Amino acid sequence: MNMLTDKFGRKISYLRLGITDRCNLRCQYCMPAQGIDIVKRNELLSYKEMYRITRVLSELGVNKVRLTGGEPFVRKDFVKFLESLSYNKNLDQINITTNGALISNYITELENLGINTINLSLDTLKADKFKQITRRDVFKETYETLENLLLSKLVLKLNVVVQPGFNTDEIVDFVELTKTKDLAVRFIEEMPFNGKGLRATDEIWNFDRIYHEIQKNFNDITELSNKRSSTSKNFKVEGYKGSFGIIPAFTRTICHDCNRIRITATGMFKNCLFDDGVFNLRDFIRKGASDEDLKELFISTVQQKPKNGFVAEANRKDQNVSESMSTIGG
Ligand code: SAM
Repeated sequence: MNMLTDKFGRKISYLRLGITDRCNLRCQYCMPAQGIDIVKRNELLSYKEMYRITRVLSELGVNKVRLTGGEPFVRKDFVKFLESLSYNKNLDQINITTNGALISNYITELENLGINTINLSLDTLKADKFKQITRRDVFKETYETLENLLLSKLVLKLNVVVQPGFNTDEIVDFVELTKTKDLAVRFIEEMPFNGKGLRATDEIWNFDRIYHEIQKNFNDITELSNKRSSTSKNFKVEGYKGSFGIIPAFTRTICHDCNRIRITATGMFKNCLFDDGVFNLRDFIRKGASDEDLKELFISTVQQKPKNGFVAEANRKDQNVSESMSTIGG
């Protein structure tokens, strides 16, 4: 039974957990060239703490976890942590968001652990542009991961952050990729977080504009029946193997049935991507909180989930959303 219901009746069943704030890439829209001020190691939740938080949440109704960061695979023993999570029978899905540069050797292990979906971040199909966006020269490794994932049982989704005038000319190429490849490309509206991005124009590329661009170029598009609380609206070009979707991350038209909470790598509980953190779980746990204390806290904190991302943003102490997605746990 789900015990995590907010005051708007939304049931919370999906945790996004930041594994670390560290990342091996320096994506322009995510962080500055020199990186972000990473926290001291002891300020990160330990795996034991993450395991416990997830277990307690899963006893309250969370049945899906996404592990993200930072880059989860840069933290030592991440795969061992996955193994421990895989024993939690309350979890129906364990998914990972990764840039893929480090994982081509782990794919069989991930399959064996029963990981469901890998969201692979890839904003361009061109090696030179990849280097410009990420400030690292690892397109080859990332693309190899993509190909290895296609050969595996894991569900593959590509996360493409749409950067106006920089990769908007590749939207069609990404959709074309779904002709022969069984993957879901998801175009994400760029959010103005800690990193200027590479936008080459002031044009607004929101959900409608992205969809229009695709519609102009493909005739037979059908809308797929969207799963409840899906972050993306999903479509398919008739006869194509894969699908594509658009995530209105910035226009925030998906908040009405949001089922998500986030916990950052430092243990900050977030009811919304756009809030600035509502509770420091790490300190609470380190002061000796019991499982019952945690349960009480989760039930009452979720009640405060703001109606939508605009309300969350307006309620921030620090009015500008300026932290990196690497800190938030994208
Ligand atoms: N390192 C992993 C990766 O690259 O997928 C996980 C963390 S990353 C912060 C998670 C997702 O957030 C990525 O798909 C990334 O493209 C997205 N992201 C980061 N900054 C963003 C921004 N300003 N706007 C939209 N998406 C962003």
